[in-house]
Amino acid sequence: MVGRTPMVRLNKLSQETGCEILAKVEFCNGGGSVKDRAALFLIQDAERKGQLSAGGTVVEGTAGNTGIGLAHMCSAMGYKCVIYMPDNQSPEKVSTLKLLGAEVRQVPVVAWTDDNNYNHQARRYAESIENAVWTNQFDNVANRQAHIETTGPEIWDDTNGKVDAIVFATGTGGTLAGTSIYLKDKNPKIQTFLADPQGSVLYKYFTEGKLERTDGSSITEGIGQGRITKNLEGAPIDQGLLVMDADAVKTTFSLLYDEGFFVGASSGLNVAGAVQAARLMGPGHTVVTCLCDTGHKYYSRLFSRDELEKRGLLECIPEAHRHSLH
Ligand code: PMP
Repeated sequence: MVGRTPMVRLNKLSQETGCEILAKVEFCNGGGSVKDRAALFLIQDAERKGQLSAGGTVVEGTAGNTGIGLAHMCSAMGYKCVIYMPDNQSPEKVSTLKLLGAEVRQVPVVAWTDDNNYNHQARRYAESIENAVWTNQFDNVANRQAHIETTGPEIWDDTNGKVDAIVFATGTGGTLAGTSIYLKDKNPKIQTFLADPQGSVLYKYFTEGKLERTDGSSITEGIGQGRITKNLEGAPIDQGLLVMDADAVKTTFSLLYDEGFFVGASSGLNVAGAVQAARLMGPGHTVVTCLCDTGHKYYSRLFSRDELEKRGLLECIPEAHRHSLH
């Protein structure tokens, strides 16, 4: 089950901004996240190019959700799945990948420019064995093609073409770029906002033209990019928005307690970005974003009292609910 996810109206935030704040519920994909769309297209791309045949191995470098999507599909399609990931990711993601039958190789966190970055290790391993493909989610544009062919058309249909802005955070950039390419082709007036977490470089790139980090590191996972990936290259993006962790966390808890959605921090960041965009555009506009995944994978970080306290984020949670954090 990939795509055709529900579109919901976020009532409280729509009321507060005078805009329609809408979100695609991406955790309704079978593997539980927006990345199922890319995972399916990456596997189909490899099959079409003859890089993968029966009994083959899919290898990917991933912080989690792409791996979960790939592992699900590999299991159903009869492929082996090997996932390289940085060793700073939540243990829930590792357990899920293992449960799905993937082999997980956790490697030390080093920058893309280092030869031992998890993506380079994934590529080298795929090259070293027969009938294997490195799906290369960051730079294989089959990723954004998934959103050109599914997310974009779905948003257009869900809103009957009445959409003024889209707002997405970026990991690979596939969601933002693909959706923007499709929707701008339908209506060039649609505004595309890139919502960036603290510590990532894209906000400055799309506001000042400099690939330079903003201060801090983020509690969000799966988003925040240090370079222009091939999926982002040439994509129509109008404006960068910086969403601080305090805002992303506050919004994640507002989604939980006010709107009825238990989601991860990238969803909170997306929605906080959508509110910023709504305020910039003014009342009467329709702003679309997505809820990327659920909160279940993030107990050890986002929903941990110690972690929130350590990062100075505990006061973002409504006082009445602080006692319920573990
Ligand atoms: N949210 C979460 C939780 C993710 O795992 C990812 C992808 N890593 C994204 C958002 C961003 O998606 P994309 O790669 O399409 O930019």
